[in-house]
Amino acid sequence: MMKKLINKVLLPIKSRLDNKEYLTDAQVKRLEVCKMCPHNSENVNFKSFLDKIKIFLNTVLNILTGVKEKDKSVCLLCGCQLIFKSAQKDKENMCEIGKWDNL
Ligand code: SF4
Repeated sequence: MMKKLINKVLLPIKSRLDNKEYLTDAQVKRLEVCKMCPHNSENVNFKSFLDKIKIFLNTVLNILTGVKEKDKSVCLLCGCQLIFKSAQKDKENMCEIGKWDNL
């Protein structure tokens, strides 16, 4: 339980440090799905206060880890920046509503 919680907190930092210059095939496919998704921050005109906080925290983490923001879109369900989320391999870090099924 505690290990899970620590992993959850460290993942946004680790995913940025692991970030590659290029996109993997899986990332390209997943980001295509996200591009059409109503939970993608780029597709949401009215953002709630909580949505804005999620976007802001991603920007802060990017600054702290020295990552350049190539694609600012954030999944407003989980609050993760999609460029980093799409690179994940663990089951618990996949799309929360299963839209990446088998990608
Ligand atoms: S991860 Fe899933 S819910 Fe989030 S933007 Fe992508 S497709 Fe939508």
